[in-house]
Parts: sequence; C-alpha cells; structure tokens
Amino acid sequence: MAVVVQKFGGSSVATPEKILAAAQRAIDAQNEGNQVVVVVSAIGKTTDTLVALAEQISRNPPAREMAMLLATGEQVSIACMAIAIHALGAKAISFTGPQLGIVTDSSHLKARIKSIETAKLREALDGGSIAVVAGFQGIDEKYDITTLGRGGSDTTAVAVAAAIKLAGFDVRCEIYTDVNGVYTTDPRIVRKAIKVDVISYDEMLEMASMGAGVMHSRSIEFAKKFNVPLMVRHAATSEVGTWVVGEEPWMREVPVCGAALAVNEARIVLDALPDRPGVSRAVFAALAQVNVPVDMIAQNVGSGGKASIGFTVIHGDLKKATDTLDPIITELGATMTVTERVSKVSVVGAGMRHVAGVAEKMFAALAANGINMKMITTGDIKISVLIEEDVPPPEDDEDDAGTKKSHLEAKRAVRGRLALEAVHDAFGLHMPRSGAGVAPSGYRPRPASAVVPEARERETAVAKLDGMEDILVSGVHLSSDQSRVTIFDLPDRPGHCSTVFNAVATGGILVDMIVQNITSVGKAELSFTVPRADLPKALKRTQDVARSIDPSCRVVGDAEVAVLFVLGVGMRSHTGVARTRMSSMPSSFATAVSRSRASGTTADAGRGR
Ligand code: ADP
Ligand code: ASP
Ligand code: MG
Repeated sequence: MAVVVQKFGGSSVATPEKILAAAQRAIDAQNEGNQVVVVVSAIGKTTDTLVALAEQISRNPPAREMAMLLATGEQVSIACMAIAIHALGAKAISFTGPQLGIVTDSSHLKARIKSIETAKLREALDGGSIAVVAGFQGIDEKYDITTLGRGGSDTTAVAVAAAIKLAGFDVRCEIYTDVNGVYTTDPRIVRKAIKVDVISYDEMLEMASMGAGVMHSRSIEFAKKFNVPLMVRHAATSEVGTWVVGEEPWMREVPVCGAALAVNEARIVLDALPDRPGVSRAVFAALAQVNVPVDMIAQNVGSGGKASIGFTVIHGDLKKATDTLDPIITELGATMTVTERVSKVSVVGAGMRHVAGVAEKMFAALAANGINMKMITTGDIKISVLIEEDVPPPEDDEDDAGTKKSHLEAKRAVRGRLALEAVHDAFGLHMPRSGAGVAPSGYRPRPASAVVPEARERETAVAKLDGMEDILVSGVHLSSDQSRVTIFDLPDRPGHCSTVFNAVATGGILVDMIVQNITSVGKAELSFTVPRADLPKALKRTQDVARSIDPSCRVVGDAEVAVLFVLGVGMRSHTGVARTRMSSMPSSFATAVSRSRASGTTADAGRGR
C-alpha cells in the first residue's frame, strides 16, 4: 500500500478550524486507499512566542533547555491533530520525535538526523491509524531532546518519507503551507511572481539555500538523496501545487527559473592574509568547529604575498564567527572588517549551465537601478550577488535558535527588494514558459519507486553512511581546459561588472565561474573563467573595457587554471566543506574554486553565464 506523508506548517494549523480541515485532508487520503503519516509544526507563531519567552528570562539561555522549550510547541500540535482526527471518526496515534525514534546528533538547536525507526510507525499504520508525528524534533544518544533548526518540520517530513521508502514502501510527500506552491520568487515581496508547476531538486535546493523560505533547505537535500517526490501546495485549497522532482531535460530550456532574496546575513572580509597553503583551511576549519555555516566565499587572487577572503555568515552567527576568528587573525597578522547588514540576491536555473550572458543580464539590471555589488559568487546553477543595506538592524533581531522573521526582515531590506524585483523583471520570470513555471503537457512526475540508476547508486552509498543526513560526495571533477581573467583595482561603483560582462558576452564567450570581492580599501577584484581557446579574445575585450573604466585597473590572464568541482548532496547545509576542500590545495589553486558546485549531477564543462 502506498504511504502519503502530509506536512502541515504552523499557519496551516493556526486555528481549531484549520486543524480540523487538515485532519480531514489526512482522512481523505486514507479513504483513497493510502496509509497516511501527518507531520505537524507548532500552531501559528508558537515557536516565535516561546523564543521570546526565553529571551525575557535570559539573554543567553542554554541550547539544551531551548530545545526542551521549543519542542513543546509541536507536542501540542500532534495531540490536537490526533484529537481532530478522532473527532472526525478516524483513528490516529500521535508521536513526539523521541517517541518515534528520530535520532539526531547533539547539536541541540541545529541537530542533524542520524536515523529514524519505522517500527512504531508501521505498527500504527498497519493498525489502520493515521500516524501523527511532531516535526522539528528528535532525541540524541544521551536521551536529550533536540530540535532541527527553524523551519525544520519540512526536514522531519521528508526524512520520515525517506525512512519509509528505505523500508521498502512506495511513498510521496505533500507539504501543505500558506501559498499555492513554489513561486518564481517570494510572492509577498514581488507581486508579479508566478507559481511554478515543477522544479528540480537542485533548483529548489538553491532557491531554498539562497533565501526562499518556502522550504527548509535540508529537506530538499533529503528528498534528492532518497529520491522522494514532493509537492508543495496550499492547505486551504484543492489547487495542484508545485512538484519538486529530479531534473528533466526541458527544465534547461530557460536559463533562469527563479530568484531569491536573503536578508539576515553579514559579511566578513579578512585582508592581508599570508598567501600560502593552509591559511584558508585554518579560517574555515575554525568556523566549522563551532558549527557556523559559511555561505558566499570569494578569495582574492592576491598580490605581494598577501591575499584576502570575503565570506558571509547568518547574522545570528556573526558574533560567534568573529570571536572565533579574532585570535587566528591576530596570529596571522591580518585584519578583519565586518559589514553587519547585507542582502543577497540570487538567480537560479538549470539552463544557465549552457547559456552565455546570464551574469551580464543580471548585473545590467542591478546597474540600471544604481545597485552596487559588494560580492559575486557563482555555483553550478546559480549566481549570487551581495548588496549592502543601509538599514540598521533592530535590537534583538536574531536569537540562538535562528529566526523565522524572514518576511519582516525582507520588508526592511529596501535595496535587496529593489534588486530582487529588478532581476525578476530582467529574466521575465512573471511570464509562464516551459522550464520556468510550466511543465510540458502530459508531464507526470516519476513515482518514488521508479528505478533511477543514479538514485539506486545513491541509496547504496547512503547505506554506508553513519547518519541519514551525512554529506554524500558522489564525485570530483577536474576541468583543466579553463583560463582565468582577473581585473585588479576595479573601482567599487555600480555598473562596472555589467560593462565588463557585456563586453565579454557580446564576444560570444561563455563565462563559467565568477568571483568578485571588495577589499577593505574599496577596490574590487573580479575574476572569471573562460574556455582556454577564448582567453586571448576575452583578455583583449576585458583590457579595453577596463581601461575605459579606469586606466589604473590591471588585467591579468592565467592560461593554466584548473577548476575542481566536488559533486554530492549535503554540501549546501553542512559546515566544513570549504575546509575539507581547501586543505589539500595550494592557495593559487584554491582561488579558482567556488564553493558550490555542491549538488550538480553532471560535470559538463561547457556552460556559461
Ligand atoms: P510553513 O509555516 O507552512 O512552513 P513558511 O512561512 O515556512 O510556511 O513558508 C511559506 C512562505 O514562504 C510563504 O508565505 C512565502 O511568503 C514564503 N516564500 C519565500 N519564497 C517563496 C517562493 N519562492 N515561493 C513560495 N513562497 C515563498
Ligand atoms: N515550529 C518550528 C519553527 O517555527 C518548525 C517549523 O515550523 O518548521 O521553526
Ligand atoms: Mg516552513
């Protein structure tokens, strides 16, 4: 019998009526012949209220006790949901995460799932009950209650679906929320955004990691790793939502399928670092050690034996990051500059691997709105740009448990919102097209049980891991036919990057990796890679345009650059990936590495920006 896992977010169980409506959905699915598992979040804004309560008692509550407190929210919901199902005449049994056997590591507020027991679940389902499971929580090996990080109920739902699948059952997972599905960008910020029918795991993972709060990014890593098809849909309507599935060829028909804004980040620039192997490693190892995930990373090529690295962290992790780095910076004789409020705008699309001029279009849209880019990084299927906000943060904006006030934060990020709208317009994302919004007629997602060789391989590899959520590296690819162009001392003003990439794109040259970082003295260093055969042409065009911007810019070409890609699942959300990758490389090599070709499945060299 097929199993359906239905997850209801906080707003979908915010009132007794909504709980009854959700219960009815579960019963309907059971009446259609499925076994049903319901995963619920805390009612409405309960978790925010609990965080605020703790803050009124202490500015620094212990993580263990915060997890104990926050987990109560979901315990209320499962009981209410089970009561509602009984009231409507069906059978239900509720389980907390610990009761079910959702075993995690001991990082109390950012715990990772190691394993999920399915015995109790099976017993409940086989006895004709709907199993109601608390999202967001688990138990560690010391029997301490843990929580998975804000928004983590999505991850519980997909992980439970994956565990059921591993136990040999056909499963699908439905995420019920307060929007009709996944939109081209957050519809609360950009009114013109439209719902997409189908999106690939990789695209959704990039969207979620880049700020699209509709799904917890770790849940997408689970879905991809275990090949669980997901549908995101509205809890209050019967409208078909958005399928999140494996990549299909038609998804590459447009270069960009979505855009996202992340607003609660901060930027750290380390200048005057000794340019020698092991320095980047020391920095990122220290951050990984204290469980601070690093997002955008741009390392400058460096001159005179000194290099600089810029990267972003979640604003709530900023203090921990600077406290950790302080002694290292002093020892290395380097300097650290922090920009507290930055917004990150990203465009995502599987099609950008093969199309020239994507970066140019994005940068031109930003330049036309007078928006200056403080940092640029590219991944396999995304381009991210960092923008400085001039809005001061309100007090107590963040907390150790993370924050879910994304909507409020987005409202304050005036420049970020303007940038998001500009790129959404530039790529015509409001217009439904195949590959961006619309699936070809007759498209049906493959069921989870369908044999996909790649998924089979992944399942075999997963069986060897210590934990379900462990990072899974599936391959390393070295692209040795690339060359690098670097512009030193580009004045830090809007429009310059756009002018450079326009000159390169009009030469028909495919730009692959782009890294731009602004040093503390307000000069940008911009590097990008091009196919080796195109280096002379790219260099000439870049030199001409750089000279016209500022005769003091220097342009350098490196013919022999290798680009190393590490492929796999889990790199988006795990700390320590940069450390591991940079540890075995000389620094000149590491400069050609961008962090995230994290989730690519193919290692094709011929793609563009
Ligand atoms: P839940 O409580 O159901 O988990 P969330 O608030 O976590 O709901 O996620 C739903 C919200 O995500 C929507 O109300 C929407 O504003 C926001 N969102 C951000 N980006 C997107 C996007 N690309 N598509 C749809 N919704 C988005
Ligand atoms: N209740 C938790 C939160 O608000 C988990 C979730 O909703 O997914 O973050
Ligand atoms: Mg959510």
